[in-house]
Amino acid sequence: MFPRIEQFDAVCFEKIQFDQKLNNTGTEDFLQPFEGQLRQGMKHAIAGKQAVSNLISSTIPMRPQPPNLCLVTHLILALLGVQSFAEDLQSITVRGLPSLVALYKDLHANPELSLHEEQTAVRIAKELRDAGLEVSEKVGGHGVVGVLKNGAGPVILVRTDLDALPVKEQTGLPYASTRIVKDDLGREVPVMHACGHDIHMACFIGTARVLSQRRDQWSGTVVMIGQPAEERILGARLMLRAGLFSRFPKPDKAIALHCQSDLAHGSVGIRDGYAMANVDTLEILVRGVGAHGSMPHLGKDPILLASQIVVALQSIVSREVKPGDPAVVTVGSFHGGTKANIIPDEVRLQLTLRSYKAETREHLIASIKRITRSLADAAGMPADKMPEVTVTEESTPSLYNTPELTREVRQSLEALVGADHVASVDPTMGGEDFAEFGITKEKVPLCMFRLGTQPPEVVADAKAKGLTLPSLHSPFFKPEPEATIKTGVEAMSFVVLNLLKKH
Ligand SMILES: [Zn+2]
Ligand SMILES: [Zn+2]
Repeated sequence: MFPRIEQFDAVCFEKIQFDQKLNNTGTEDFLQPFEGQLRQGMKHAIAGKQAVSNLISSTIPMRPQPPNLCLVTHLILALLGVQSFAEDLQSITVRGLPSLVALYKDLHANPELSLHEEQTAVRIAKELRDAGLEVSEKVGGHGVVGVLKNGAGPVILVRTDLDALPVKEQTGLPYASTRIVKDDLGREVPVMHACGHDIHMACFIGTARVLSQRRDQWSGTVVMIGQPAEERILGARLMLRAGLFSRFPKPDKAIALHCQSDLAHGSVGIRDGYAMANVDTLEILVRGVGAHGSMPHLGKDPILLASQIVVALQSIVSREVKPGDPAVVTVGSFHGGTKANIIPDEVRLQLTLRSYKAETREHLIASIKRITRSLADAAGMPADKMPEVTVTEESTPSLYNTPELTREVRQSLEALVGADHVASVDPTMGGEDFAEFGITKEKVPLCMFRLGTQPPEVVADAKAKGLTLPSLHSPFFKPEPEATIKTGVEAMSFVVLNLLKKH
């Protein structure tokens, strides 16, 4: 059902048929003033196509589009010099795909936890070096930085994450992870690339290869970073602290992609403005005065006080935050006491907070401090036993996709996969420390787009039956490697090539 490249040639690039089609589509009037330029663009496209056709396997599926739209779109793209570019890109990707899929399966079978991405980083550094980049390792933990300088022009940062999660894989795939590792507390835990960071790495290396092989088509500098510890939202900060923006070329723009578990492969998703939330991880130490369980009047019960705190915190989002301004306060962990008849002397709570706006984030934290202190006061807790609220390092700002850059990225994606394969995705309350690269004093514009991972028929079937597909972080999350990586490499390369296009 997809037109093949030879058909595509015939429809879009043969001069005679060009004339014919131009008349048939009734677009003559519209295109007449540009005819000279169009013919120039066509020549350019045909020449580029000729060179490419020597390299490529005989047929490459193209996006199905209505014939008239196809003609007009491709004529305009040819005029812009974009068409041969996209085809060339597809041909490189197709040829490089088997080795990228092999890389993906290897990474998938050998995942490493956050801050332990040692072998993963070594592999990524080697692949970047083999692709011709100048590579530095151990930039903030296991961070990897590859630089590709190619003349004057802007600096574009491309980021992949490296780490996996303590999840026991249950996909049943032949290359499923069976790894058991020790976590930071010394516990044995299973580990799995359940967030698709292995897909990101394969797309990232594919992009490095394309950019390196097609240096004649762009000008500027690409800084490609392998970031550790995304799952603990620590790695971006580690790399920045290690001098990412001072030791290496300072980026003018930064791009990343992330798998989406309910989007068909071949499609991408994008959202401008707030795309992901502020994440704050808080710990509250609720102190008490220990006593015998039968003599509560001799102590100060921290279990009762902590319970009151948990209930009172629920009023922040419902009563203090403006309706329509998204916010979440979740108490995910409550630990205290050892025995039924002992009033303990402390309880520990762990919370996750989510929001978009910086002022909402500050409000949530300030309210939590106020409520915990006031309730401790009400319980008659002495001044030296007030609760302690700590905002931990596992916190990150919201991901704001800079509208202007996001528009540019969307245009590239639409030109590559077709507008009907670019979904406008909803923002989520998930967190992503890619956001950190945009809030330094350099104020680097950011854009993270989404990559479809599932067979289209699986997505359609789930939708028809009202089923939910396994989400990211699920032990059943199973991206389709070939098609996902192919689109990921093409999309990321095309976005970067267009941002650095020679004028
Ligand atoms: Zn994740
Ligand atoms: Zn992730």
